[in-house]
Amino acid sequence: MSSRPEFSPGTVKTFQTSAGGTIVQIPLQEFPILWGYVYLVLVEHDSQPYRVLIDTGSGFGDSNQNLETGLQVASQVLGEQIGLDSLTHILITHGHIDHFGGLNYIRPRSSAQLGIHELDLRNLTNYEERITIVARLLGDFLVEAGVSDERRKQLIDLYMINKSLYRSVKVDFTYEAMGMRLGPFEMLHVPGHCAGHVVIRLHDVLFSGDHVLNQTSPHQAPEKLTLSTGLEHYLQSLDILERWAGDIPLTLGGHESPITNLPGRLSAIRSLHQQRLSQVLAFLNEPHTISETSHHLFGEVHGYNVLLALEEAGAHIEYLYQRGKLGIANLADIEDNHRPVLIRYYHMPAVQL
Ligand SMILES: [Zn+2]
Ligand SMILES: [Zn+2]
Repeated sequence: MSSRPEFSPGTVKTFQTSAGGTIVQIPLQEFPILWGYVYLVLVEHDSQPYRVLIDTGSGFGDSNQNLETGLQVASQVLGEQIGLDSLTHILITHGHIDHFGGLNYIRPRSSAQLGIHELDLRNLTNYEERITIVARLLGDFLVEAGVSDERRKQLIDLYMINKSLYRSVKVDFTYEAMGMRLGPFEMLHVPGHCAGHVVIRLHDVLFSGDHVLNQTSPHQAPEKLTLSTGLEHYLQSLDILERWAGDIPLTLGGHESPITNLPGRLSAIRSLHQQRLSQVLAFLNEPHTISETSHHLFGEVHGYNVLLALEEAGAHIEYLYQRGKLGIANLADIEDNHRPVLIRYYHMPAVQL
């Protein structure tokens, strides 16, 4: 996701919804090269005041302090003292650490009710377990992707750093149990980028989390790493969102600037994936591994981006393989092994049905 040089913590922006809601966009530095936003939302519904925080930041580095600064600035702008202790609810868009990691800081300082979609519940409540399980699946995936033993160990070590960033917390409710609604807030389940991803609509404003971003195509990983992720679910969720909220005038993402033409952005993201799928097919006219495909698509990348690029390539290969467009060139290697082995995929000629 893009870095934003003009970005400075404490620079808040406000938005008004069509039916009297006030939204304050608070910028945070979530990781050294990742910036994002949380949203403070003030709205009355059936004579009830809602003081809602959408997402929490990562809890890493200056993220919590940026949140506190943002709330102070918001209080000045709104002429009303709003702190963590005034929040009524915390709504998490999806179970990625840059969106919920701040909970370890916020929970002891707030009595707000915490909600997330059922399919990402474990990310918050059984965090350590999930990291361990995903690390194992990731290890197998990296073998199959053709990553060397040494590189694989480095990548898994990098992934395991996540374990130290958060401790599990209790969740008060899931969106499914609430009928995908909380007062004036409506949730729509959009699996793909994350299994339990939701977008949240308040009046004429949509909070899109990482499902739709203004500049970057949201990250995809193969579904074999986590059920209800993968490119198939993601592309379906773009269509579901367009039917649900295609005419919405303002979409506020978890990163990057607001989107004012949602259908235009959705079709740009769809085209990018179609183009990437064609690129993968063309490259696999000769048999290649996921690692080689990742290098072909994204060139030389470093650090955590290596893992992200492998997952992105893996998600596209999984999508094509599932549709019978790809075959496995080294099937004999797999037959002779009970452990995961490197897989070479190739583009099969079109089958006449
Ligand atoms: Zn995410
Ligand atoms: Zn994010």
